[in-house]
Order: sequence, then structure tokens, then C-alpha cells
Amino acid sequence: MEKIFNYIGGEHIPSQSNEWIDNYNPSNGTIYSLIPDSNGQDVENAQLAAQKAFASWSALDVSKRSKVIQKIATLIDKNLEELALAESIDNGKPLSLAKKVDIPRASSNMSFFATAILHDSSQSHQMSKEVINYTLKKPIGVVGCISPWNLPLYLFTWKIAPALAAGNTVVAKPSEITPMTAFLFSKICKEAGLPPGVLNIVHGYGPKVGAAITKHPEIKAISFTGGTNTGKEIAKVAAPMFKKLSLELGGKNPNIIFDDCDLDKAVSGTVLSSFSNQGQICLCGSRIFVQRKIYNVFKEKFIKKVNKLTIGDPLNEQTKIGALVSKSHLEKVLSYIQLAKQEGGTIIAGGKQVFLEDRCKNGYFLQPTVIEDLAYDCRTNQEEIFGPVVTIMPFDSEQQVVQYANSTIYGLSSTVWTNDLNKANRMSEKLQSGIVWINCWLVRDLRTPFGGMKKSGVGREGGFYALNFFTEPTNVCININ
Ligand code: NDP
Repeated sequence: MEKIFNYIGGEHIPSQSNEWIDNYNPSNGTIYSLIPDSNGQDVENAQLAAQKAFASWSALDVSKRSKVIQKIATLIDKNLEELALAESIDNGKPLSLAKKVDIPRASSNMSFFATAILHDSSQSHQMSKEVINYTLKKPIGVVGCISPWNLPLYLFTWKIAPALAAGNTVVAKPSEITPMTAFLFSKICKEAGLPPGVLNIVHGYGPKVGAAITKHPEIKAISFTGGTNTGKEIAKVAAPMFKKLSLELGGKNPNIIFDDCDLDKAVSGTVLSSFSNQGQICLCGSRIFVQRKIYNVFKEKFIKKVNKLTIGDPLNEQTKIGALVSKSHLEKVLSYIQLAKQEGGTIIAGGKQVFLEDRCKNGYFLQPTVIEDLAYDCRTNQEEIFGPVVTIMPFDSEQQVVQYANSTIYGLSSTVWTNDLNKANRMSEKLQSGIVWINCWLVRDLRTPFGGMKKSGVGREGGFYALNFFTEPTNVCININ
């Protein structure tokens, strides 16, 4: 059975305990590799390696750091096929999606921050003829990066790239549910010539490895993407230690369709924003609000397209809906479909587990599901499901839909479909979310601030926001008199 290894001090090694966790292929329910069951001792060793590497990495010319990180991006491109296949097998997502989105984006993350650091600048404030201030941006030291399973390499690199570019050394933990591409990535880093200890990857369970990273006194900042409850646990430990914290958490995003929109574009966009990656993207629009005048026509066109989505073997090029990431996650999503029925919801598309034949007969597949007749404030419409399940309901006015949209504890992203630019601007003002997409979804410029408000997170990632997070400013005030 293939083994995944930790990457500490430039070496691929098992955990100190030499115990292993089974790694499942969600498309067929089989165990196909083993993951190190690491603990606090492995995190300690990773931190020591990172500490040792910090002095030379942080002192390296920015152009040299940039070159190594760019080389990693080039090697990701070179290994695209292998990485995409590994991501699809590990996560259950369609291979075509991994090839088109996950792996190219992992490469873009590395090359974006490799070049961003060359263009970073600091401020200077002149007070008078005699007194001038300038700001130094210093790397923090050893930082922790913890990422989830839904976009494994995409989100892992989204944190690691700015941390390394800014001159920090890293102890990172991918989700134990999808560790394979992080392992392959560590081999790429070695091949690219990243010095030993600059990046350390410790595999294992969140409450053991993630918690040990969070509470380590010498790991000075934590960048975390995952669920809101886990974010709360991390904040409880890290805040009293005065660590810098960036938290990218859950969402329950509204998708608002006005009667003046381009209907066909809104329908196609909504199919994507509802069911891409089996609805397991924090930015998916899981609550669809349609203005009453076009409610029935929109619903009809939407359901027709949803029912045509091909559910199947993730390795098949035709597949649009792959497997959910794990058996327990499938059960969680199914339990929400049950809850929706109890709350008075009507299933108007999907709703059932899918049993495929042959290779995938034991996989975790679910029909893309659309539910109507639910109140905006019921549990199904307030809690994050994180699967291929959306609700749809009519609204009458801007004021009403803003109230519906803002009614959850979350505030990550919103989508608005309208041809009225004034209305789009009004909505963007009123929607409580970190991102508003108008007539599009998941269009990402890596320079823009990315993150959520309310219980969707604290802080912003992306561009100079991320580079600022991973640096400490020191203001220097000089009297030249
Ligand atoms: P989790 O919060 O369960 O896990 C995220 C990461 O944290 C995993 O690596 C996990 O390890 C680790 N972890 C778990 N417990 C702890 C702990 N006590 N201390 C430190 N680390 C811990 O999230 P999921 O992996 O289930 O991901 C889905 C969630 O992520 C959804 O809520 C989704 O909305 C959110 N998300 C947010 C995004 C954003 O940008 N805002 C983007 C993508 C997802 P392990 O897997 O081993 O348990």
C-alpha cells in the first residue's frame, strides 16, 4: 500500500509514532494509501526545522526567494496530469475539474506570490523637513498554515505561497481527508531546490496536529481555512497567545436573481455556483432567491439543466458531478435533505443517493438536489450543508431579498444577477458579505481582498493583504536634524 510521508527538514519521514491512518478513495470506498498519524512531537520537530531555516531564508534576496517559488510553479505545470489525477482520486472531484481549476490555480498561487513579492513596497511618511518615517516589513518567523479538503492543493498553496514569499518558514497541515497532493507538492518543493526546513508538512488529524500547531508558542501566526466551529477552537487557543490570525471559514451564500437579468446566463451561472465540486466550495450559492415575476420560468429552465448533469466516475471526461469527499460527509448531507423534508420542503430535483455500477459501485455519490417551499429562516436555510444541495424561493422586493440574504450568521460571498447597474451597486452596499459577484461567479483576480465577514472569518487573503498578514511592520522614525 502506498505511504504518504511527512516532510520535515527537507526529508520525507514517517510520524514519530509510526502509526498510520487509512486514506480512502471516495469514488469507490476503498483504502488506497496510508497517512502518517502524527502528533505534537512531529509538530515540534517541524517547528525546530523551520526555526533553523528561518535566518537564511528570511535573509535571502527577494529575487532569489522569488526564483525558487516560481520554479515550484513551473514544476506544478509540468506535473499537471499526475497532480490532477491524484486530486481527483483523493477527493472524488471530476478529473476534468482538477485539470482545469485546482492544479492550474495551485500553480498560479505560487507564481502570483513569487512575482507579487518583487513589487511589494512599504510606506514612508514625511512629517517635516527634519523628520521622516519609513516602515520596514519583516517576516514574522515560523508560521502555521492549516487547510481543508474541498480544494486541497489550491487552498494549501494559497496560504503557503505568500508565507514563503514574505520570508517566513512554514509548518503546514493539509486535511487528513485529502493529503495526497500536499505530499506530491513536497516532492516538487525538494526538486525545485527549496532549502530544507523552509516548508514542513505534518500530516494527521486536526485535533492532534492542527491543535499542536495552533498552541505551539514559537509558531507566531496561524492562517486557517475550514469550518466556523474549528475556527472558533483555534481562536480560543491562539488569541490569548496574541498570535496573528487569519480565519477563512464557512458560508451560506445567497444567489439573487432579479427579473431584469439575462435569464439564460443566470440559469447557467446558477448551475455552476450551485453544484461545482459537488457543491463543496465555500463560495457556492446555496440559497437561490428569484424575483417572483420570473420565478417559474427560471425554476423550469434551471431544473432542466440540473437534471442533465452527468453523475459518474470522476475519471470519466463526461462527468460533471463526482463523489462527495467521504462517507460521513455524504451522511451529513443526506441528513440535511431529511431535515428539509421535516421542515416542509419539497424536493424538486434529486434528493437521493446514487449507486453507480462497476468500479464506483461503493462510492459516495448524491444527486444534485434542489428544494423549495422552505422559509428563509429555517435550519436548512441557515446552516452550512456544503454539498450538492440548494434551496430556491421567490422574493418581491430589493428590501425583502436583502433581509433574506443577510439573515444567516455567515457573510462570505453573494451573487447578484441583474442588468441594472444602479441596483447592482445598491445591493453591493447592503449585502453583508466579503465578496459580491455581479452577473458572474467565482471569477477571481488574485490581487483582490478575499474573505468573509460575520462568522465567515476574520481578515482577508489575496494580493498584498496576504503579504501584509505574513509580515510585521516596524515604523522607523528618523530625525535628520
Ligand atoms: P475543518 O474545519 O473540519 O478542517 C479544516 C482543517 O483544520 C483540516 O486540516 C482539519 O484537519 C483541521 N482541524 C480540525 N480540527 C482542528 C483543531 N482543533 N485545531 C486545528 N486544526 C484543526 O473543515 P473541513 O476540512 O471540513 O472543510 C470544510 C469547511 O471549510 C467548510 O465549512 C467550508 O465552508 C470551509 N471553507 C472555507 C473557505 C473560505 O475561504 N472561507 C474555503 C474552503 C472551505 P482534519 O481534516 O484532519 O480534521
